[in-house]
Amino acid sequence: MIDLTGRTALVTGASRGIGRAIALALAEAGAAVAVNYRERSDAAEQVVAAVTGAGGRAIAVRADVTDPDAVAAMVKRVVEELGGLDILVNNAGIIDDAYLMMMKPERWREVIAVSLDGAFNCTRAAIRPMMRGKWGRIVNISSDAGLMGDLMRAHYAAAKAGLLGLTKTTARELAAQGITCNAVAPGIIETDMTAEMDDTRAEAMLALIPLRRFGSPDEVAPLVAWLCSDAAAYVTGQTICVDGGLRM
Ligand code: NAP
Repeated sequence: MIDLTGRTALVTGASRGIGRAIALALAEAGAAVAVNYRERSDAAEQVVAAVTGAGGRAIAVRADVTDPDAVAAMVKRVVEELGGLDILVNNAGIIDDAYLMMMKPERWREVIAVSLDGAFNCTRAAIRPMMRGKWGRIVNISSDAGLMGDLMRAHYAAAKAGLLGLTKTTARELAAQGITCNAVAPGIIETDMTAEMDDTRAEAMLALIPLRRFGSPDEVAPLVAWLCSDAAAYVTGQTICVDGGLRM
């Protein structure tokens, strides 16, 4: 059983997809949850309503994770309104397919800014409140792309690989404070992000996945919730794949 009663969590990009499933799983385990989003306040409010409707505590917090000042203000608000910050899930991410030769520098920077700078901004802002409680859990949502590379996603793969270096360094620097940091690397998960994959690519990917299907956000969230629990106290600096066996 995963029990996060009394813990407070911030999940970035929690209005949709994997982040939404993680926010709901953390709330189901008893945590008060801050649902971060960038644009879709309606979707974020629906996640909040699902949590509060089930008797939990949640707030929606708008912030672009690429903006350090907005992130600092968001963390301040979470601490004030929910009473602390014990758990951070760096989940916000975007893709934008282009072959390297055609990739515009501004798109390279934008994809890296959301996945990698965003995780840095949020982690930096969350450390102090976590240190106050001498307990913390940080989970970075990386990707198989960061481990294997991915066609047309040089920026995305580089950001997701960068997250693994950030994960290990965070784990080393904060271990003495009772704060763990791990990465979860999903394979292909059915969300808005993967909805527009063409049939040829989908078939080619399925052929590489031993379990012969794509995953769902609800198959990623329980692992994240476990990593955020006391049961995972001796696990830090690790990368765990949830990908139907794509990478092994
Ligand atoms: P998604 O359905 O496209 O949702 C993306 C989420 O990120 C939304 O909540 C969005 O907010 C938020 N977001 C985007 N840019 C942001 C920013 N600058 N600041 C704050 N929030 C921002 O994505 P997903 O498929 O659930 O993916 C979630 C994470 O898992 C990403 O890091 C992704 O790289 C990773 N991942 C996904 C897969 C997959 O197959 N789906 C595989 C491996 C890894 P709005 O709703 O407000 O736009």
